[in-house]
Amino acid sequence: MSTTLRADHVLAHVAGEHVLLADGEVVVEGQRIVFVGPRGAGPAAVETIELGPSLLVPGFIDLDALTDIDHTLLDSWQSPELGLGLQWSRDYAEHRRRAVFDAEERAFIREYGFIQLLRHGVTTAMPIASEVHSDWAETYQDAVAMAETAEGLGLRVYLGPSYRSGVNVVDDDGTRSLYWNEKLGIEGFEDAARFLRWAAERDSDLVRGALLPCRIETLSEDLLRRTAALAAESGVLVRLHALQGLLERDLVLARFGAPPISVLERTGLLGPNLLIPHGIYVDSHPRVDADTDDDVAMLASAGVAIVHCPLTSARHSSALDSFERYRAAGVTLCLGTDSYPPDLVRGIDTGVTVAKILAHRADAATYADYLSAATLGGATALGRPDLGRLEAGATADLVAFHLGDPLDGVLDDPVRTLCMNSTARAATFSMIGGRIVMRDSRIPGVDLAAVAERAQALFDRMRAAYAERDYLGRATEDLFPPSFPRVG
Ligand SMILES: [Zn+2]
Repeated sequence: MSTTLRADHVLAHVAGEHVLLADGEVVVEGQRIVFVGPRGAGPAAVETIELGPSLLVPGFIDLDALTDIDHTLLDSWQSPELGLGLQWSRDYAEHRRRAVFDAEERAFIREYGFIQLLRHGVTTAMPIASEVHSDWAETYQDAVAMAETAEGLGLRVYLGPSYRSGVNVVDDDGTRSLYWNEKLGIEGFEDAARFLRWAAERDSDLVRGALLPCRIETLSEDLLRRTAALAAESGVLVRLHALQGLLERDLVLARFGAPPISVLERTGLLGPNLLIPHGIYVDSHPRVDADTDDDVAMLASAGVAIVHCPLTSARHSSALDSFERYRAAGVTLCLGTDSYPPDLVRGIDTGVTVAKILAHRADAATYADYLSAATLGGATALGRPDLGRLEAGATADLVAFHLGDPLDGVLDDPVRTLCMNSTARAATFSMIGGRIVMRDSRIPGVDLAAVAERAQALFDRMRAAYAERDYLGRATEDLFPPSFPRVG
C-alpha cells in the first residue's frame, strides 16, 4: 500500500534540519516515507490525499503525556494552605488508601487520554497518569490494558506501570513528608519488570516497554539502584520526575544528604537513557539555595533528556530558566503535555512567551526551536532517529494542521501562524507507522461525545474523592471554591 500526501506547507527534513517546503508531497510505502519533495515529483502511489491549506509536520512526540482526565484544572490555582488539602493525609496513606477507580475504569481513562492526544496531533506518547486517585501506583495489568488500547487506536507508546516506595503526605500539623512502604515499592518494580518482558515478547511495532517510576523523592535508594540496573540490563529508557520543585529538593537533601542530581549520579541513573520531566530546579535556578552552577552542564554531558512541559509548568507558577540556556549547553530538550489540554501547540506558544518574559527579549526562544523539541528532540530522547522528521527512510508518523480557518486570521509563516493564532485542535489528519489513525479530525471507531460524557462522570467522582484525603477533612466545595460566588 502506498499513499501520497499533499499539503500547501510541508516541514521537510533536509541535510539534518527542518526546512519549509511550499506545495509539497510526502509519499509513504508501508510503514516508511519514501519521498519528500515538490508536488508531483514523487513516485506514483495507490492513493493521493489532498490536505490543502495545511501544515504537514512530523507527528508530535509527547514524553510526559496526559493519560488522566485532567489535574491542572483542579490543582494549579489554590493558596498554599488550600493546596495542602489536595495531598494525601498521612492517616489516609496509612489506613484508608483506596483506588477511586476500578481496573476497567482506569483502562477507560487511559483510552480517553490517548484519544485526546491523537486529536491534538500527538503520534508518540510516554504516558503519565496521576497516582493520587490510585491506592498506590499502577499495576502490570494497567500497563497491559494501556498497550492493547494504544495498539487498537494506532498510537505509538513507551509504557510501563508507575511504581514508588513512598508517597508525599501531609502530617497532622500540616507539614509535608513521606509515608514509606518499601514492600509496595518492590512489588511495583516487579510489575514493571514483568511488563518489560511482556512488551519484549510481544515485539509490537507500536508498544515499547520503559521504566516509569514516579518521582525521585518517592523512591528508596535501593529502588533507584534496581531501576538503573534493570534499565542497563534490558536497554530500556527510564523516566523519572526530578528537579521539579523546592520541596522535592528539601526532601531529597534530608533523606539522601545530597541534592537530586547527585542522587541520580550515584545510583547509576544519570545517563543517556534517562528522561527527566520538568528539570527546572537545578542548582543555578534563582530560587534554589546553592552556590554552584554545575547541574545543566552535568545534564548535558550525561546525555539526559529534559521533558519540558511549558503549559503545565507555567500554570503551576514555574518555568525552565531558561530554554535557551539548556539548549546552548547541549541538553536534549523534548516536550510533554502533562495535563489537560494535551496541546503542544499551546505548550510551544507558552514556552516561547515565558522565555521572552524571563529574558526581556523577543528573540529569547523561537517557534522553530520549540517545534524541533516536539519532534527531533523527542526522537533523540527516545533514541529513534527514524522518528520526528519527514525524509525518505523515516517512519511515517505525521500530522496535518489545518490553516484555512478564517478565525485563525491571516496566514504568514505557517509555523508562526499555527503556533500564535491556532491550537493543536487544528490537527485534522494523522498517520502513525503508515496507518491513517485520524482523518477529517475523526478517529475511526471513536464516538468522542460518548467518551466525553463518561469521562465527565468519572471526573466528578475523582473530584469528590479529594475531600476524604484532606488532612483537615475540608469539604469538596471548600477545596474547590468556584471562580465567582455561585447563586441560584
Ligand atoms: Zn509532570
